[in-house]
Amino acid sequence: MIPPAFEYVRAASLDEALSYLEKYGDDARLLAGGHSLLPLMRLRLATPKVLVDIGRIRDLAYVREEGGDLAIGALTTHHAVERAQAVAAAARALSDAASVLGDPQVRNRGTFGGELAHADPAADYGAVVLALGGAVTAAGRGGRRSVPIDDWFRGPFTTALQPGEILLEYRAPAAAAREASVYRKFARRASDYGMVGVAVRLRLGEDGRCANARIALSCVADRPVRAEAAEAALAGRAPEGDVVRQAAALVLQGVTVADDPFCPADYRTHLAQVETARAIAEAAARARAA
Ligand SMILES: Cc1cc2nc3c(=O)[nH]c(=O)nc-3n(C[C@H](O)[C@H](O)[C@H](O)COP(=O)(O)OP(=O)(O)OC[C@H]3O[C@@H](n4cnc5c(N)ncnc54)[C@H](O)[C@@H]3O)c2cc1C
Repeated sequence: MIPPAFEYVRAASLDEALSYLEKYGDDARLLAGGHSLLPLMRLRLATPKVLVDIGRIRDLAYVREEGGDLAIGALTTHHAVERAQAVAAAARALSDAASVLGDPQVRNRGTFGGELAHADPAADYGAVVLALGGAVTAAGRGGRRSVPIDDWFRGPFTTALQPGEILLEYRAPAAAAREASVYRKFARRASDYGMVGVAVRLRLGEDGRCANARIALSCVADRPVRAEAAEAALAGRAPEGDVVRQAAALVLQGVTVADDPFCPADYRTHLAQVETARAIAEAAARARAA
């Protein structure tokens, strides 16, 4: 299908993009990589009158390590995330996710910020950023603000972003000594969206016990979710054997699990538990080597 007619403007700078959003208000929609918005427009599920293309604002495409944080600009492509040494060193779960997200075409055009702004409950980065922690920076006409990642996802395809704002950057603390992260995705076929995605960030103490754990999932509910009961089950314990199994069994506690003909809720729950156990074990192995 072809989308309804729309006007197209290209912003050369952040200021210009913000001016366009102010000028066109609710009629406008930002266009980054176009790999979520354009399919929606073709299906006429989104009918913006004006597309504001921000894809050429190159100073929003970067990966940096700054003051112990990893910072990723909104227009960084999935491919650049997958390839960046700084990402692999500071937040390996993001490299894991970028390497299994869609196919090479999607990864070459789709952007990190577009994925966080789109907030598809089945998107891979949702679980990862919740497990890594940190915050998103957004800019509007009134200035910039930081939103803790735990407050970012508000519902299906809904975030804390306000009308007229642009997502600029995601920033998370880089992995410290004896700390590592992992993302695991279970999909029916290569390049599919996942049936379950699990991200784990673990820091071990010198005694090998878990000093900090964050676990989060994509594809299991109406938004990415933290697994706080599973995190608590790891606290102060060595992430091995029964401890891992007990934590994994709690991973969807309190979550209304998504249910569809391709993946009924009980099967999805089983997958989430199995993948969580594997992700914890892998994160622990990486943390021991870090
Ligand atoms: C065939 C295919 C397979 C895919 N498979 C996967 C997959 O397996 N896993 C996965 O996670 N994703 C998958 N995707 C989605 C892909 O990751 C998209 O790139 C991503 O969801 C959106 O990024 P984009 O740059 O393309 O955003 P766009 O489509 O340009 O924009 C998406 C939305 O975000 C808004 N937006 C974009 N940038 C900003 C910004 N900086 N500030 C505020 N709002 C902004 C837009 O206005 C729009 O509403 C797939 C897509 C396709 C087409």
